[in-house]
Amino acid sequence: MLVDSHCHLDRLEALSAAAALEAARARGVSRFLCVCINEANKAAVLDIARQHADVYASVGVHPCDVTDQVTAVESLCDWASADKVIALGETGLDYYHSQDAKTAQQQSFIHHLQAAKQLQLPVIVHTREAKADTLNLLDAHACRQQAGVMHCFTEDWAMAEAALALGFYISISGIVTFKNAQQVREVAQRVPLDRLLIETDSPYLAPIPYRGKPNQPAYVREVASCIADLRGITLDRLAAATTDNFLRLFSRAR
Ligand SMILES: [Zn+2]
Ligand SMILES: [Zn+2]
Repeated sequence: MLVDSHCHLDRLEALSAAAALEAARARGVSRFLCVCINEANKAAVLDIARQHADVYASVGVHPCDVTDQVTAVESLCDWASADKVIALGETGLDYYHSQDAKTAQQQSFIHHLQAAKQLQLPVIVHTREAKADTLNLLDAHACRQQAGVMHCFTEDWAMAEAALALGFYISISGIVTFKNAQQVREVAQRVPLDRLLIETDSPYLAPIPYRGKPNQPAYVREVASCIADLRGITLDRLAAATTDNFLRLFSRAR
């Protein structure tokens, strides 16, 4: 039994969410976390979760979608009161795609961390080229007991270790299958088995042998078997561990 801990089911263009879910279930994927990126796609994300028993939702504003009107903590708490919401995010810092909005991104990230603390919900953290600021804000504002996940992790082992020390889980995407992804493979190998999650980040970042094509949750199996091979364990063991981890972290998904 596998879990896709991070997918954007409302953004799959190649096939419908229902068809993608069917295909994934046929390959042993039993739970899905459909991730919100802004206020505009929130309704679509919540709808998909409402329509499918095995789909859960997050609510939040992606760092690249942050505007000068940073969403207030009260609004985030209100969004999170919807059915099937099990996490806040994705939030975080992305200095690669948007350099100029740094202050607004930081404010938005802090708001998500404050809302998460209030509601005792885990956060889904997106971080790119913002290592020091991400770790500093997590250290200052994240809740150690109910921390969250560093999703689609592409940073080095030192950052993974720092995030683990703050109580975070590390989620690995299909990037792990790419030939030049040595750093991601190292992290996928070294993260303690009880702190590891897997995801597709569909429709982006399809794993080999689908690289360059639209991604879908069924391909989380390729991510899982690549990591199982790297770690020298069976796919079943990797699947069981990452599913247990998902249910422990996102305790409202039980
Ligand atoms: Zn992301
Ligand atoms: Zn995402």
